[in-house]
Amino acid sequence: MKCPSCKEERLSLWMGGQLGMIYFCKNCGYKGPIAIDDSK
Ligand SMILES: [Zn+2]
Repeated sequence: MKCPSCKEERLSLWMGGQLGMIYFCKNCGYKGPIAIDDSK
């Protein structure tokens, strides 16, 4: 997964639950539901 803000590739899962997944970027501090999946 990539950060949509800074394109950091080490985006980590911060929180998951009924409302959906929230990702956290250690590089720029982004937190949100959007992660770029470029695994294809
Ligand atoms: Zn980032």
